[in-house]
Amino acid sequence: MRDNERLSTRVGKFRPSLTLELKTLASERRDRGLPVFDFGLGETKGPLATRIRDAAIEAYREGRTVYGDPAGLRELREEVLKWLGCGAAYDVENVVITTGAKQSLFNIFLAACNPADCALLDAAPWVSYQPLAVSSLAVPVMVQPAGGKASRLKVNGADLERELGMRPDVKLFLLNSPVNPTGQLYSSAELLELLAVCVRNRVYLVLDRLYWRVVFDGKAFPEPTLDDETRRWLIQVDGISKNFRRTGGLRIGWTVAPTDLAQAMANLQSHYTSGPSMPAQYAALAAIDADYDNEMCQALERKRDRVWAARETLPGVDVWPTPASFYSFWDVSGVFGRTTPGGETLDGSEKIARYLLGEAGVVTAPGSAFLQEGYLRISFAVHDDELEAGLAACAEAFGALR
Ligand code: PLP
Repeated sequence: MRDNERLSTRVGKFRPSLTLELKTLASERRDRGLPVFDFGLGETKGPLATRIRDAAIEAYREGRTVYGDPAGLRELREEVLKWLGCGAAYDVENVVITTGAKQSLFNIFLAACNPADCALLDAAPWVSYQPLAVSSLAVPVMVQPAGGKASRLKVNGADLERELGMRPDVKLFLLNSPVNPTGQLYSSAELLELLAVCVRNRVYLVLDRLYWRVVFDGKAFPEPTLDDETRRWLIQVDGISKNFRRTGGLRIGWTVAPTDLAQAMANLQSHYTSGPSMPAQYAALAAIDADYDNEMCQALERKRDRVWAARETLPGVDVWPTPASFYSFWDVSGVFGRTTPGGETLDGSEKIARYLLGEAGVVTAPGSAFLQEGYLRISFAVHDDELEAGLAACAEAFGALR
């Protein structure tokens, strides 16, 4: 074996995510006693709800730590259907509990795609979609919206039809709404149109709705229509990582899928994880079997408004409105060509992210991590004082460019 063959060609090519690289630079700054405003991390702040914590402790105390059903705890699967409001359309056999939403996605690629099948991704795909598709030997292809920036990078039915017309080997279209990184929300009509295209073309629509409770302005997440046909082609992915405080590390997600696929995914899981950690499943059950508390969403909406108000102070930056999620998406292409006080010309989102970190201590995620150059993603799920100070530091850093 030659040195360059020690790793598989598939996985050996992966880079650690850019956001992690920036995190390392940020902690180096912290170690030097310099301020850091972390707008990079997609995780809500605040205490873990007592009932979630106690449910996990109780499970450990009572020794509910033996192997469980690889498809997940039955009570949790039942509750997931209620949580998603689709108990009338599905049975518990359609639900598979996974180790985070990431594993749901990986299961789907593995269960649905043959080697070299095409997996269509939406226009600003979340960082892990591509590596997950590649690892499962599918070929990820991004659907480009004809509407470009004006469409806020949302894909419509015609965009999808066009792509499907060019590729006979498409197995699925993976759509994220609310969208990480752009903060956009697909309307009911937009979702329906995409679902109809998928049904007509007999490809799966995988709907990653992980942020579905974080929808602002008094609106609610538009539920997809469920009838016999759509149920055959719709796969929904969700979990507890984003709609609650401090739950990302519990690593619980779920898939609601047609029976054959759900069965295949449960079989697969029985071989490679035997299902997620049992105490974490009890914690997830405690999270979703109570009335949902909107307090976190309301707090995030106030932060969203604060970022929106700050747009006037950011020369060259076009801040997109955020109807959902906790990400503000900044079009920074207007800053390209400008020069930093240190004499560097900024010509890409990664350079801008590095400049903001070095000059202002602000951690952001460059658009290039989401295969969209010319943007920055700002996570505003931070404490109010950090948000204020970080936005002021951004204003100063953008203002200092010539
Ligand atoms: N999908 C999207 C859009 C995400 O933002 C994330 C996490 O950031 C995931 C899936 C993975 O979620 P989990 O942490 O539950 O595995």
